[in-house]
Amino acid sequence: MKCYITTPIYYVNDIPHIGHSYTTIASDILARWKRLNNFNVFFLTGTDEHGIKIAIAAKEKGKTPQELCDEMSAKFKEAWKLLNISYTDFIRTTEQRHFIAVEKIVQDLLDKGFIFKKKYEGLYCVGCERFFTQKDLDENGCCSFHKTKPALQSEENYFFKLSSFQDALLERLTNPNHKEYIEIQPEERKNEIIGKLKLGLEDISFSRSAIEWGIPLPFDKKQTVYVWVDALINYITAIGYPKNEVTFQKYWPADVHLMAKDILWFHSVIWPAILMGTGLPLPKKVYSHGFFTLDGNKMSKSLGNVISPQELVDKYGVDAARYLVVTLIPFGPDGDISWQELTLKYNTDLANNLGNLISRTIKMAEKHFNLQVPETKPDLELAKKVTTTIKESFALNMDNIQLHKAAEILQNAITLVNRQIEIDTPWTLAKTDMNKLASCIYSYLQAISIIIMHLLSFMPSISEKIWQIIGASGNINETAKKYFIDAIIPENGFSVVNSQLQTPGILFPRIV
Ligand SMILES: [Zn+2]
Repeated sequence: MKCYITTPIYYVNDIPHIGHSYTTIASDILARWKRLNNFNVFFLTGTDEHGIKIAIAAKEKGKTPQELCDEMSAKFKEAWKLLNISYTDFIRTTEQRHFIAVEKIVQDLLDKGFIFKKKYEGLYCVGCERFFTQKDLDENGCCSFHKTKPALQSEENYFFKLSSFQDALLERLTNPNHKEYIEIQPEERKNEIIGKLKLGLEDISFSRSAIEWGIPLPFDKKQTVYVWVDALINYITAIGYPKNEVTFQKYWPADVHLMAKDILWFHSVIWPAILMGTGLPLPKKVYSHGFFTLDGNKMSKSLGNVISPQELVDKYGVDAARYLVVTLIPFGPDGDISWQELTLKYNTDLANNLGNLISRTIKMAEKHFNLQVPETKPDLELAKKVTTTIKESFALNMDNIQLHKAAEILQNAITLVNRQIEIDTPWTLAKTDMNKLASCIYSYLQAISIIIMHLLSFMPSISEKIWQIIGASGNINETAKKYFIDAIIPENGFSVVNSQLQTPGILFPRIV
């Protein structure tokens, strides 16, 4: 089984911030989770590098557009390295392979009669790099994202017959039994898209004249492909379209396109229409998340409150940063975050709950059993209880990218083990019943190993480290893969009797 997951390609007029990180970390967690479930995963991210904004910004900085793109694209790669993002490929729209794919798609659409030339006069927002119709604008006649009035511009462009796809799109977006059904998530935004689609579609400008920083149309080199169209095609370029038919057939269609809500329309309407026009299969799922505010305020460069990946990592460490960013608010709706809440969640979930469980378990083993997995008759009751607590609903929430819920299930499992320790009172057993104490510590270690395998997609590095600390055998990734398929706990447990444990130090130092 394959699973093709994409983030949007990020526009290089901005440096990586928490918004990009949020989409990318969520995608990475999904990719890692699918790999653990034995899917052949292709996980794509990259940078969107064409358009007038880039040309202008480069000029201002005294650079060529390509130099600026190289520099900015590298910053995204650095950020994803910092956040331990396991992408399969990083695509840049200035690469040769992308030119070939875009030219092929545009030529195909022309040949099939979906592209025509017309003089166009419209309201153009430079910020969005797109034309708007009056009904797209807010009550003041402004672009709702930039709050500026688009200027009236006129040029001769090539157009895409988007209007001719209305019925076909409605059918594919609303009928789950259609063989090319596209699932839009979340439901509320799906309804918005459908509502807007029912109002009718207008043909859209597909090219720009006088914008040189782009991909020239194969049939009219004086025009370049509209940057939005160019960007969407990256999803097929990266898996080999059109030259590498084998890889393309292997991974296309995409299983899920993830993105923020502002580009949902492009992914659920324009992109499928382009694909239909060329006769290519449609993506299976388009999933958008909301915007978030910081302490109730919009994050923006001018307010100076934009959070960078580096700041998150400096404060919490890589693994905790990944965990916190995607679990503080639900994936889908808009949400508000704050440093206080991030820190509170860090202290509650990681320092107090998980960190404490591991540290107290290892301390007992150190004090009474020479830092080894105590010799005992394997008791797997607690581990089985933990499995039951986590099972199914965890997998369901991971598959649906409800990562905050998946994390909550894990926290409940950790609490369950911590509570069991309170019930067992191993500190009294040390004086009365060493056999029982050995059996208890053994059972905590098995329970922890189950929990850690589930945390692996969220916190890959520290999970590996904890796996060593608790004396669990083998490579955690391989063991987890086997566990997620068979759901069987080995007879002797994951931390085998007499295995060496390690002192954990402070895994998650409390932050004040
Ligand atoms: Zn705008």
